Amino acid sequence: MSTQERASEAEELDVVIVGAGFAGIYALHRARQRGLRARVLEMGDGVGGTWYWNRYPGARCDVQSTFYSYGFDADIDQEWEWSERFATQPEIERYANFVVDRLGLRDGIRFDAEVSSARFEEETSLWHVDAADGSSFVSRFLIMATGTYSAPLAPRVPGADTFEGQSILTARWPHEPVDYAGKRVGVIGTGATGLQVISAVSKEPFGHLHVFQRTASLTIPSGPLHLQPDDVRALKARYPQYREDAKRSSIGAIWEDPTVAIDAIDDAALHDEMQAMMAKGSGHVFTRFTDLATSLEANRRFIGYLNDRVRARVNDPELAELLVSRDPVYGVRRVLHEHDYYEVYNRDDVTLHNAKAKPILEVTPRGVRTEDGEIELDIIIWAIGFDTGHGALRRIDVRGRQGISAQDALADGPNTYLGIMLDRFPNMFIIAGPGSPSIRSQMITSIEQHVEWVDELMVRMRERGEVAVETTPQAVEQWTAHVNAVVDNSLVGLDRTTQYFGANVPGKPSAYLAYMGGVGPYRDICEAVRDAGYEGFVFTEADGSRTTASESWSGAPEGLVARSPFGARVI
Ligand code: NAP
Repeated sequence: MSTQERASEAEELDVVIVGAGFAGIYALHRARQRGLRARVLEMGDGVGGTWYWNRYPGARCDVQSTFYSYGFDADIDQEWEWSERFATQPEIERYANFVVDRLGLRDGIRFDAEVSSARFEEETSLWHVDAADGSSFVSRFLIMATGTYSAPLAPRVPGADTFEGQSILTARWPHEPVDYAGKRVGVIGTGATGLQVISAVSKEPFGHLHVFQRTASLTIPSGPLHLQPDDVRALKARYPQYREDAKRSSIGAIWEDPTVAIDAIDDAALHDEMQAMMAKGSGHVFTRFTDLATSLEANRRFIGYLNDRVRARVNDPELAELLVSRDPVYGVRRVLHEHDYYEVYNRDDVTLHNAKAKPILEVTPRGVRTEDGEIELDIIIWAIGFDTGHGALRRIDVRGRQGISAQDALADGPNTYLGIMLDRFPNMFIIAGPGSPSIRSQMITSIEQHVEWVDELMVRMRERGEVAVETTPQAVEQWTAHVNAVVDNSLVGLDRTTQYFGANVPGKPSAYLAYMGGVGPYRDICEAVRDAGYEGFVFTEADGSRTTASESWSGAPEGLVARSPFGARVI
């Protein structure tokens, strides 16, 4: 079919939304509330995004379920009942489906429709979008709700496709049950996913479990798994206020204000504080201390305390030393919440392999090979992570002005304005894109803020008859410099070997993938940009005339105090 024929058959819309995860669902709802013709294109056959694909055993959220949920609809907050403190993947997927049906959104989602290309047409300021199922769309706006952990990495070990057993990528876990009975199971990777898989598989009737660990993760015991009905009732009574407070918080969720400086207390007092916080739940440990963001000594003692807990739980001291974290600072990697993880290594039928000292050299038809020889396996589980942040965006052929591809626009790094827009991609918005709090925040709070901000922008344009909005190279440069300055001025900048710097993907530029100034300060900045007439943006009217309040961003407010609990300091 010719391009012209396709275009004539294309469905005409105001907004195409790519992805039916939490961002796409809410973007569809807002667009419909505004009377915009909108459609979501989703490559899977269900909603939930990350929580649809990552159906591996043990998958659960480590943010308390009553916090990790939409806050935009007070009725939904009252109607939905979470069954556990840390919701499992099936429950979160059920929640996403509940919201979609409750808001009547399902008929706006086209499933099994993977977007293959999107092209901005300069003459009309319209986007032309094609999906792999043959469907085509023309729309004014393109919302990339493509997710941040949605481009799973494929195994890069030589011979990976020669394995004759069952090879499973955690982010593409089969819908059918996996039979572990008597099998030799290998798990590769010990990040957030790996730890959950290992704990879950350890309860199955496997023959032998081999764990291949390259880097030990820093962990905190998750604490009580059950929600107390009284706590839920109390939260529901003040949910609207909680949601408002969360929007202005450092991370997009609230436990308690930090009040205790580790540097000011002795080891016995630190022990008491940690015990008390862990008994309440992992989130309380996160936010208890005032100086984890600023003091290396506080970090040394905090990490030391958690590592000593690991040593106390693992019988073999040599194994224990392998399992303790070597992170220089809390938060450089994701701090994981675990329940019964370390006890797994006290079993005779579990072997921990040091994949840093002795990497997996190749996958063979019968297993994997290290310098110690072949380890025979029946199942290999790859929990090896993602092309974090904008990985999914980079995998779509998206073309902006003069045919520039998103890959080229992002080749030098995750350079965006506010994490929302790329230079030369008019009318295209990224939800929770790189350079916004996104992956270092309570994701749903951040998603809602972006969707609402973009929604207001689209409404303004409709009211004024503007056909295009785009950011400027100056604004992108200024914002990127600010994002980098915050990280460089923080303790998380000390370790650039993490996925947050893109280090897990060969060739990806080394740049932090999130804004570390905190959810509340970031929201203030976005609102200030809006209130200044959308500085850093240029609008085009139907007659081609262009207007702008300012092509530059006027910068962060004087004395902005970064409020991320992951180690950002005063800027
Ligand atoms: P990840 O944090 O990037 O971990 C990937 C792991 O695979 C790392 O331990 C990595 O080691 C290892 N690895 C990669 N290639 C390897 C190889 N060839 N041999 C041995 N080990 C190898 O990915 P993830 O665990 O999927 O987590 C990604 C993100 O998803 C998290 O940061 C989190 O935001 C989210 N998540 C959240 C939850 C939750 O809410 N509970 C659960 C799962 C995931 P190196 O570190 O040495 O590279």
